[in-house]
Amino acid sequence: MADVRGIDGVRVRASGKINLALRVGPRRSDGYHPLATVFQSVSVYDDLEVRPAPPGEFPVTVTGAQADLVPTDGRNLVVKAGRLLAEAYGSPDAGAAIAIRKSIPVTGGMAGGSADCAAALVALSVLWDLDVTQSELLDLGKQLGADVPFSLMGQTAYGIGRGDDLVPVLSRGSYHWVLAFADFELSTPAVFARFDELNPDPSPALGVPTGMLETLASGDATALAGVLVNDLQPAALSLRPELSKTMAEGMDAGALASMVSGSGPTIAFLASSEEAAIDLSFRLSAADVCRTVRRVSGPVQGAKLVA
Ligand code: ATP
Repeated sequence: MADVRGIDGVRVRASGKINLALRVGPRRSDGYHPLATVFQSVSVYDDLEVRPAPPGEFPVTVTGAQADLVPTDGRNLVVKAGRLLAEAYGSPDAGAAIAIRKSIPVTGGMAGGSADCAAALVALSVLWDLDVTQSELLDLGKQLGADVPFSLMGQTAYGIGRGDDLVPVLSRGSYHWVLAFADFELSTPAVFARFDELNPDPSPALGVPTGMLETLASGDATALAGVLVNDLQPAALSLRPELSKTMAEGMDAGALASMVSGSGPTIAFLASSEEAAIDLSFRLSAADVCRTVRRVSGPVQGAKLVA
């Protein structure tokens, strides 16, 4: 491992994601559900800074909205990332102080923990000056969580398996979204369990909607609105029926489409243009149906170093 003396800190920014398509198959004997999904990274970011720390120590600080919901001990995915990376490519007793500034909602269905994990892999490989390739980081990411490889990659990607076997998807232009962050959490396992109850016999034939990939290549937001799909949405709405009201408010306020993001409870509204998104975000804020309204665009880059 290279000498890190003289390196003050390394900063990495990682984005949240939404699933433009999320198809869920029948629960397997190992507990996982096979997925077919199209991810798009969007411009809501967590920022992470790593600094040298004594051997084997990973002190974590978390600031920003909902920081109190994030563990700072060994359960935090950034600590798991640090330990795994050190063992696999560095010296097993490496350490680092990790500061996370959160903007991605916690347990919001936008893979915030995975974003931090991806950011930690990138930042620590620079801090420790490791000889590790992007594809090796993707492999480590897979071991840490199903959404981590996409958080490393960003942009738009098609995922199968647990959603972690990825291929990039051509996407033209930029899509404008308004996100409604809820003032409650939805646990991903609880949403999958409700999916099982609601779908005792789900179709094993998985695939993304016909036309979605062509639509993304064309950059037509109205066409995209017609093909968005989330098989977990009925389960999330059944656990938290008040989300239906949020979705209806956004549609009344001019959204092209509304959908639960991943396992929820964040709701993503697609707008026809940046101006329409500004208008929608004002109207949604005034309706007082969620904790915060946030205007974002996508696709954006995956975890990246910042100055
Ligand atoms: P996904 O959509 O991938 O299931 P999510 O966006 O719904 O995830 P996260 O914000 O990633 O949810 O957090 C899930 C849980 O992971 C939280 O309850 C939290 O305790 C734990 N966690 C571990 N590390 C982090 C982190 N760095 N940031 C946020 N949560 C973390």
